[in-house]
Amino acid sequence: MAVLEARKELYKTLNAMAPEALFQWALEEHGDRAAIITSFQDTGCVMIDMMRRVAPGMRVVTVDTLRLHPETYELIDQIEARYDLKVERFFPDEKKRQEMIARHGEYLFFDSKAKQEYCCHVRKTEPNQRALETVDVWFTGLRRDQSAYRSDTPKVSLVDRRGRKILKVSPLAEWDEAQMKAYIEQYDVPMNPLYDQGYTSIGCIICSTPTLPHEDKRDGRWRWFNALDDDKKECGIHINGSGI
Ligand code: SF4
Repeated sequence: MAVLEARKELYKTLNAMAPEALFQWALEEHGDRAAIITSFQDTGCVMIDMMRRVAPGMRVVTVDTLRLHPETYELIDQIEARYDLKVERFFPDEKKRQEMIARHGEYLFFDSKAKQEYCCHVRKTEPNQRALETVDVWFTGLRRDQSAYRSDTPKVSLVDRRGRKILKVSPLAEWDEAQMKAYIEQYDVPMNPLYDQGYTSIGCIICSTPTLPHEDKRDGRWRWFNALDDDKKECGIHINGSGI
């Protein structure tokens, strides 16, 4: 009971903290067990810039699906040079990737939702699980305005990963486009040039496409499934979170 009360108190404190204070708290309290895990979209780049200003030294981790856009790979190089950091890359298990391609082909994600999820599992979710094994505090770039499915994203929550609790922190969950734009301009944060080509959510090549003004930010993901009622536009990495 006392543990639960203490946990609730911590949850309240963390939820009230500004993003900068969350980075400082995580680095001080958890050191190398805290990390930004990012796919280098706008929020991820802002988080890295903020972290380097207020809590330099925090780890930056990414999952390289081996199917990213050339522009994303160039952005990662640019960020490493600008912030003088080494991004830790987690890759798909090579044996599982080869087996999947041999059985279903490189473009299996067009065939069915199940095969898209299989591909996302091999290329994203499983390497992400391995990355998560190295952290107790997981900083993500989720924002409530990214899609209807993400509209109630908590700033801080406790998630269960293989029986272990991880504190999942989305420091910019409450930010909107105007706040993002202002920060990016003020600190001249490097951005993926694909945003200038109409992309509003950037993942793997082919599976992410530009969006139209009336669409949700993630509507360009797996566009060929847009007619499905239950399509959450999620790859599995951010599903199954829970409150503290
Ligand atoms: S986004 Fe597409 S290519 Fe990337 S892991 Fe998922 S299905 Fe595979």
